[in-house]
Amino acid sequence: MADAPRTVLISGCSSGIGLELAVQLAHDPRQRYQVVATMRDLGKKGTLEAAAGEALGQTLTVAQLDVCSDESVAQCLSCIQGGEVDVLVNNAGVGLVGPLEGLSLAAMQNVFDTNFFGAVRLVKAVLPSMKRRRQGHIVVVSSVMGLQGVVFNEVYSASKFAMEGFFESLAVQLLQFNIFISLVEPGPVVTEFEGKLLEQVSTAEFPGTDPDTLSYFRDLYLPASRELFHNVGQSPQDVAKVIVKVIGSARPPLRRRTNTRYTPLIALKAMDPSGSLYVRTSHCLLFRWPRLLNLGLRCLACSCFRTPVWPR
Ligand code: NAD
Repeated sequence: MADAPRTVLISGCSSGIGLELAVQLAHDPRQRYQVVATMRDLGKKGTLEAAAGEALGQTLTVAQLDVCSDESVAQCLSCIQGGEVDVLVNNAGVGLVGPLEGLSLAAMQNVFDTNFFGAVRLVKAVLPSMKRRRQGHIVVVSSVMGLQGVVFNEVYSASKFAMEGFFESLAVQLLQFNIFISLVEPGPVVTEFEGKLLEQVSTAEFPGTDPDTLSYFRDLYLPASRELFHNVGQSPQDVAKVIVKVIGSARPPLRRRTNTRYTPLIALKAMDPSGSLYVRTSHCLLFRWPRLLNLGLRCLACSCFRTPVWPR
């Protein structure tokens, strides 16, 4: 007899990776999953429902969930039979880019409230039932910025570093309960996330920032960032495919990067434990040799670069 479908709860499904993941799992040919695709604002459910097609109401249901609210989490879990989630995917996230002096502490706290405490809140809510049943899988959409700091992304990167430390620590205890943790680490992904963010910051004023820093941000960082997304960016569909594989594996990995094109950019950190190689190379490429940086990014995107993106 086939196993009962596993209940998968995903946060942040109104767009991007969360939406794609919900749809791909709901269309699993072996119907192994019952997907609870959640979003903060149900007014935005139209795109997901259209993409879900005939899976809607069968293997996919849509529910309201704001990861920043205890009440919303409790309400959402109360609608799931027995409150039993087999796979939790912490996907909801927000970004923050710009010169530090021009960003408010409230904006920074919102990044941590959503990315870090939002994930912690959900884990605390599902863990007692997973522990009681001695089974579960917690998937976390982290980022390569959780492994490596990136200029002008200090707070976002810090929130992903916090997730990496938290979930790696928790993974040790949870193995004792047959509960697995997987940190999925995409590089740049072309979604609304990046599009909205880059558009907003290109016109933002960042009050209190000195003219030099502002010019570095606008004239060097923003063009380089656009090139990076253009040349190395993955689609949300490709990232979702990697996550589907992670969820389907019998021995889920603790870490899974999704984009081999980005690997040369993170290799520098691994190559030199002092950290100087990464910081100095990034500094030179951005501030001294931006043309070389652009050329390098185009080379990474070139079709002669083998095995560009997982999964092929
Ligand atoms: P996205 O903006 O399309 O998706 C993020 C989703 O989170 C949105 O649906 C948004 O409404 C939701 N969200 C925000 N605050 C929420 C809250 N309080 N409660 C519930 N939902 C909330 O962008 P995406 O690229 O699909 O991002 C998904 C995840 O991938 C994020 O965690 C992001 O940090 C991570 N990521 C993105 C990239 C990238 O380049 N786009 C790269 C690496 C990692």
